[in-house]
Amino acid sequence: MKTAWDLSLLYKDLKDPRIERDQKEADRRIAAFAAKYRKSKLHLKSPAALAKALGEYEKLIGMRAGKAGYYTSFRKELDVEDKAAEALAAKLDDRGTKRGNLLIYFTLEIGKLPAPMQKKFLAAPALAHYRYWLTQLFEAARHDLSEPEEKILNLLGDVSYGRWLQATENILNKKTVSYGGKVLPLPEAEAMVQNLPTKKRRALYSEVRKVYESMGDTAEAEINAVYTTKKIEDELRHFTTPYEATIKSYQNEPRSILALVDAVAEGSSIAHRFYKVKARLLKERQLTYADRSAHVGRVETKIPFEKAVATMREVFGGLSPLYADTFDRLLANGQADVYPKKGKGGGAFCASGVNIPTYVLLNHIDTFESLKTLAHEMGHAIHAERAKSQRPLYQGHPISTAETASTFFETAALNAVIATLPSAERLVALHDKTQDNVGTVFRQIACFRFERALHEAVRKDGYVPKEQIADLMNEYMGSYLGPAVKLERADGYFFVHWSHIRRFFYVYSYAYGQLISSALHRHLEKDAEFIKKVDGFLAAGESQSPYDIFKACGLDTNKPAIFREGLAAIEADVVELEKLVK
Ligand SMILES: [Zn+2]
Repeated sequence: MKTAWDLSLLYKDLKDPRIERDQKEADRRIAAFAAKYRKSKLHLKSPAALAKALGEYEKLIGMRAGKAGYYTSFRKELDVEDKAAEALAAKLDDRGTKRGNLLIYFTLEIGKLPAPMQKKFLAAPALAHYRYWLTQLFEAARHDLSEPEEKILNLLGDVSYGRWLQATENILNKKTVSYGGKVLPLPEAEAMVQNLPTKKRRALYSEVRKVYESMGDTAEAEINAVYTTKKIEDELRHFTTPYEATIKSYQNEPRSILALVDAVAEGSSIAHRFYKVKARLLKERQLTYADRSAHVGRVETKIPFEKAVATMREVFGGLSPLYADTFDRLLANGQADVYPKKGKGGGAFCASGVNIPTYVLLNHIDTFESLKTLAHEMGHAIHAERAKSQRPLYQGHPISTAETASTFFETAALNAVIATLPSAERLVALHDKTQDNVGTVFRQIACFRFERALHEAVRKDGYVPKEQIADLMNEYMGSYLGPAVKLERADGYFFVHWSHIRRFFYVYSYAYGQLISSALHRHLEKDAEFIKKVDGFLAAGESQSPYDIFKACGLDTNKPAIFREGLAAIEADVVELEKLVK
């Protein structure tokens, strides 16, 4: 087992002659392809010709064009000071953009085919392999604008959106909070809140909240500007609802996501019960907004990496020997970089690409949290590896199914490990797990509903004042927190700093992944053979819509019942917590 990345699976070093060879090959083949189909337009008329052109296009995707980009970005992850890698990355990036520009017209032309032609192509047996890809392309093209219009929007994107966000963020990052005779930078104070005992926690939070409130005018102008920009763009692109663009870009159907949102909103009594137990654990009659993520104890048990690996191998192997093998192979090959190091990037991620080995970055510090992260990222890695059985066009996955896969493995690992903890820690771990799930499901969906309401208000009234935004936030936060948490009007100013609401509805993907993965586990508990269905989902990549992928597992994601099944798993944890606290 190796605990550091072996990047020689990609290239030997920055001077490896294969880098330039691969780039030259990509330059040459893409230029030839682009020239060929600029001239010949037969593929826009005949299914057989289009199948041939797409076959060639797919071969381009399977080339090693992007490999050097991965190599340089991984080197920078391991050493932020790797200037040589940075310089090469910039050059590669430029070269990649130029190649990409040569190909833009190819998919644009196909996307713009008249509707009867699209229908004919979708029905053609010669194009059966490409059907889902074409469906996606045609659907996206319905919302595309003309080339000059797209260019204008692209150029204006930064000033009508990015810089507004940057302004609020920059000002917030410079703010300080006075606490306990010290002056703390705001981000540090925010991170401290949940670790303090109740009295201090509430005192510090009230200082943090004052900063949010003081920023109300700035954030009001910013939010109104970016929400109005979004309205203008949605109108230009013929999106009828504010959430449609995001949902479709994650390859989901609005129907399915509305079923999710409604099921979660209707199940909010589960979250209310959780906060009631949490109040008992904190020995408080009522909680405040400051207490919502407060710690109720600590899991002190250390889990060294070797032990985490042994546990994970057992858990993954229990699901399928294939997953334990994949896990072992990644570690044996040096595809996971485990420990924190000076100069190494923080956090954790999994990166994969067509014909590129899957790499996982961790910052393992032997805690329970570290184990969770290991399981989550390895879940992404197993998903990526299984999807490598697909053809190049379908080896990726939208964020919605990616989070379902990672959460599926994380939940399996978590359940196994919680059972082995000493009983006092088991209570804490169960509380933490439930709190995470309540946050992922109920809080994110409350956020979705808040966003929807605010977009509608901006669209209806033209401008929404800060007091109204804050009240709206309280309304939706209160609806999931329930009566055990007493909100004050000023709590609504949390909107000032919540970055999620500026990323337009992406929050649902976490709730979606969590609930579907729970539903998969419940099926698996009843029938061990069900793992074959789960594997079908993992191996499907993006060859079908998430709806069809889960339908093949027997789950209808357009109906709320499936999401209710996932909610039942959270409820079971709350019930157990209630028993343990009595
Ligand atoms: Zn993830």
